[in-house]
Amino acid sequence: TVVTRFAPSPTGFLHIGGARTALFNWLYARRHGGTFLLRIEDTDRQRSTDAAVDAILDGLSWLGLEWDGDAVSQFARKDRHAEVANEMLRQGRAYHCYASPAELEEMRAAQKAAGQPVRYDGRWRDRDPSEAPAGVAPVIRLKVPQEGETLLRDHVQGEVRVQNAQLDDLILLRADGTPTYLLAVVVDDHDMGVTHVIRGDDHLTNTFRQIQIYNAMGWSLPEFAHIPLIHGPDGAKLSKRHGALGVDAYRDMGYLPEAVRNYLLRLGWAHGDDEIISTDQATEWFNLEGIGRSPSRFDFAKLENLNGHYMRMADDARLVDLIVPRLESELGRNLSDDERARLLRSMNGLKQRAKTVVELAASARFLVAARPLPLDAKAAALLDGNGRALLADLAALLAETADFTASAIEGAVRQFAEGRGEKLGKAAQPLRAALTGSTVSPPIFEVAEILGRTETLARMQDALR
Ligand code: GLU
Repeated sequence: TVVTRFAPSPTGFLHIGGARTALFNWLYARRHGGTFLLRIEDTDRQRSTDAAVDAILDGLSWLGLEWDGDAVSQFARKDRHAEVANEMLRQGRAYHCYASPAELEEMRAAQKAAGQPVRYDGRWRDRDPSEAPAGVAPVIRLKVPQEGETLLRDHVQGEVRVQNAQLDDLILLRADGTPTYLLAVVVDDHDMGVTHVIRGDDHLTNTFRQIQIYNAMGWSLPEFAHIPLIHGPDGAKLSKRHGALGVDAYRDMGYLPEAVRNYLLRLGWAHGDDEIISTDQATEWFNLEGIGRSPSRFDFAKLENLNGHYMRMADDARLVDLIVPRLESELGRNLSDDERARLLRSMNGLKQRAKTVVELAASARFLVAARPLPLDAKAAALLDGNGRALLADLAALLAETADFTASAIEGAVRQFAEGRGEKLGKAAQPLRAALTGSTVSPPIFEVAEILGRTETLARMQDALR
């Protein structure tokens, strides 16, 4: 059975590339009825913070990528990592290296000066431990085979080879007894039963070194899939300006989690020409073969379009819940039940036009704004001269209309317009301006019904003042 994992280092927020890696692992596990594990790689005590751990957990939860079981702390497993390093030592697969930092520095400088590749030269590999200098704490290094090659059959990158002579004897355990990242990842993946390692291709060189650890321990390798990184629209490395932001920033910008999931899925994975792929569909289709081999480019316009699609599909009550906090903080007060009900009644009209929750809140603002409504410049222009005169007559009419439903209001306004030899739109324009403060809005007779007669007339009177 399939076991995948997401293994973020809690040194910052959950950025969009990490979220995509998590999504792919989650989908692959769900696709195969497997398990998706979360491991927090918190071994770097200087740079790891609790705030970052929280941001990662929050981001994953918001995206709906639930992990199975408890999150594993890598740091908490340090004794196990040391145990494995010592096991390799006992088996003669690893050795103590007593070279001092100054000595290694000298070695590297000499290599550089001679134009040679900079790498540990194995100086303690075959030395007798009795030669160990007194009072120096050694590191443990892996004896990496120097002949032959290491072959990786990667599900995305294909066959990749490295000459073993290029690999140096990596450190497993530091002099202070702490494990290196290379060791910790291998031990944890093995102990957690991980079958598929899906991660960014920036880890490809690490993989060749990690394979040496698997081999030394006689452990079987997991399957590997190294996914190309996300680039900016211009093909350069993803920067903040391009969207290299925390997942929380996408929430704040008003994107829905299902839209972000769909977008991230398509960012590096394809199923024919399909653009809109629901999460249910994705858990049926997701495979490693569909992951592209070249870096994908981040495209905000595409994300917005997808988001617009999911906004139109979203449940009205859910959208109200999403915009209420935004409106309340803008207005500096709580919304009443009546106002919430008004928002709910208009949601179906409003959501057709909004690409983000932020846009939706902005477009709903007029419904709950205090009177007199601020008018934008175009709306103000419509309420001059002729428009104003029309509005005054219309106000008298709407005060009398028997029914205050959209269709009754529309019927009354239509009759009114015809009586004056005007088009319906001509009469509706100043009404729209007065009721919404804008020249674009959901269908205006629906708006009037939603506002109700009292509020509608009050707004018209405000505009006539
Ligand atoms: N902790 C690593 C990172 O955040 C990922 C390690 C892995 O996936 O093997 O880049």
